[in-house]
Amino acid sequence: MYIVMLGAPGSGKGTAAKILAKKTNLPHISTGDMFREQIKKGTELGKLAESYMSNGKLVPDEVTIGIVKDRLNSDDTKEGVILDGFPRTKMQAEALDEILKEQGKKVDIVPELIIPDDVIVDRILNRQTCSNKECGAIYNTKYKPSKVAGVCDVCGAPLSSRTDDNEETIKNRLEVYRENSKDLIEYYKEKGVLTQITPKDPTAENASEQAVEEILSAKL
Ligand code: ADP
Ligand code: ZN
Repeated sequence: MYIVMLGAPGSGKGTAAKILAKKTNLPHISTGDMFREQIKKGTELGKLAESYMSNGKLVPDEVTIGIVKDRLNSDDTKEGVILDGFPRTKMQAEALDEILKEQGKKVDIVPELIIPDDVIVDRILNRQTCSNKECGAIYNTKYKPSKVAGVCDVCGAPLSSRTDDNEETIKNRLEVYRENSKDLIEYYKEKGVLTQITPKDPTAENASEQAVEEILSAKL
């Protein structure tokens, strides 16, 4: 099962992707996480990615497509994957189809999380992530706080806020998302794989769990 998660930054797409990955036993592939890992390691790729990410801009297609292609050529992806943050442009979607076609595979379902803008901005500004890369649990000081402030419930590591989570880059990222996703949503709609998901209560603590239940009951 090849699943492409769509949704604006802060829609809960990342959290839903992680839950879905656990439930389906498929690898979770997040291009944002992959870039942040490269930045942490201080690689050339990381430096390049950072120069775009710090302005809320997209990393160039050929770079992004390259790392996804490498990832999709590893053995653990043969039963399917949960893609999160990729594709972000129509060109990336076409490249993905090409990569999967070579393997006799295709994108099976594209859930799009629909969340109101004001909820999104509020969510991102209060977002905290576990600094332990193996864990990566996501919290929200307002909607989903950790039991002990600044400490991960799951593994006890300190929580940190992402440096690109400020109001200015959020607005830029939402704009970039709107602009790029139009084509992408049209593309998957035409292929008949787009499934719009609207959690009933987007501010609920379990909004992402709700979204995943909706996805699983859609047509997997
Ligand atoms: P968010 O969903 O909050 O934007 P991500 O972790 O998905 O966060 O992405 C963070 C940044 O990484 C993006 O703003 C962009 O600069 C870069 N990035 C991630 N995925 C892609 C992609 N598919 N194409 C281009 N740039 C990407
Ligand atoms: Zn943790």
